[in-house]
Amino acid sequence: MDENYEVIVVGGGFAGVAAARHLGRKGVRVLLIDKNPYHQFQPLLYQVATVQLGVSEVARSLRDIFRGQPNVRVVVEEVTDVDPHAKRVTTADGKTYEGRFLVLASGAEANFFNTPGAEELTFPLYSVEDAVNLGGSLSMMLEDADREDDGRPLNFVVIGGGPTGVETAGALAETVKYVLPDYFSPRLANRCTVHLVDMIPNVLNAFGDKSKEYAGRRLTRMGVQLHLGTPVSEIASGKVLLKDGTEIPADVVVWAGGLKAGPVVTGSGLPGGRGGRIDVNPDLTAPGVEGVYVLGDAANMTDAKGNKLPQLGSCALQAGKWAAKNILADIEGRGREPFDYNDKGYMAMVGRGSAVAEMGPGPKRLLLTGPLAFLGWLGVHVVLLSGTMQKIRAMATWPSDYITHRRSFVVLSRPDGKRR
Ligand SMILES: Cc1cc2nc3c(=O)[nH]c(=O)nc-3n(C[C@H](O)[C@H](O)[C@H](O)COP(=O)(O)OP(=O)(O)OC[C@H]3O[C@@H](n4cnc5c(N)ncnc54)[C@H](O)[C@@H]3O)c2cc1C
Repeated sequence: MDENYEVIVVGGGFAGVAAARHLGRKGVRVLLIDKNPYHQFQPLLYQVATVQLGVSEVARSLRDIFRGQPNVRVVVEEVTDVDPHAKRVTTADGKTYEGRFLVLASGAEANFFNTPGAEELTFPLYSVEDAVNLGGSLSMMLEDADREDDGRPLNFVVIGGGPTGVETAGALAETVKYVLPDYFSPRLANRCTVHLVDMIPNVLNAFGDKSKEYAGRRLTRMGVQLHLGTPVSEIASGKVLLKDGTEIPADVVVWAGGLKAGPVVTGSGLPGGRGGRIDVNPDLTAPGVEGVYVLGDAANMTDAKGNKLPQLGSCALQAGKWAAKNILADIEGRGREPFDYNDKGYMAMVGRGSAVAEMGPGPKRLLLTGPLAFLGWLGVHVVLLSGTMQKIRAMATWPSDYITHRRSFVVLSRPDGKRR
């Protein structure tokens, strides 16, 4: 065994970073383990995936975040085994770490729902690595198509009409409309079609009716072909097959069809609920074991009234802070409190100039669309950024980025062998 820590945190996402930061500031010795040396900002991954943003815009070094916090030690290694009863984790290099408390904040991964061909032939979009694979493959495919210039149609299919799918399909449509004519040729742009598929008859199903209609209308106006109300039955080479017999030709397929908990949680022996996530107690502790917290996308969390909470960055961040407070209460012998989520609503960017936001706590949310919705989105997402400089830069650049149709075509690593 390595050293002893008061708290072991697995995962440096919104939840893990918030918990470690809060505890470290209060003088608690924390070990934060992540398989990557960076903290990822998922709300903008779709822009990396569509070659509009570089990696440094969506990932920040964990060492930078915890610089000046001597109570938090960062270890970069994959956690391969978790023993919740011993509060012990084992990493891929065979080391074990044990604490008095264990915080599992390892996020989620794509759920392909056993759809034939999906795991092998589609690009999921959950991590920086996923976004770079997709963006790099997309840019190389465009280079190939431009070089060959054979007039063959190019079809990009996004599966899943939730916020990730809508944002990705919208951004792809904008890449086709504004980037390709500028950086390649209008001929290449004319060959491209973006499709969005969902088994539900509308997009943004978690939103209200007006938001769903607005997003569907905007996507259609941007040239996205919507295939709604029929499930995908199979992904085959060069096509997506729907249950009603429709075949959509496909050069690139993006999987935004759902998430499930990753192996850290599913292999922990803790009882799994919906999506393999842990149904945590109202105070964010895992059921049936002392001193273990499960947070963010790894958990099915509820608010103080027992309502299910969404898989959102703001929810994960608040849960991280709340768990830290409850751990401090445990240490000081005080009682833990149930998680009181401050619900800021739901938001999605359909495209530049068109966002949709349902602000404030449900069920009576304030519906905003267009620039006002973007301002709501900006307010909520700037809070999620991990550093003051990042917040200032975002406030300075995101508004002009939203209004203008100027797009860059960034360099991403060439993912040879990852092309699908
Ligand atoms: C494409 C996309 C767009 C989104 N857009 C928005 C949005 O606009 N607004 C919003 O509020 N929410 C958005 N979300 C949801 C939000 O990003 C998540 O709810 C949030 O990131 C969950 O935080 P987390 O800390 O639980 O997990 P994550 O942020 O996923 O962090 C998990 C961490 O655990 C690490 N990890 C995983 N497995 C291991 C292991 N075995 N060993 C060590 N480390 C491990 C990972 O490297 C990662 O750093 C989006 C999600 C996606 C996928």
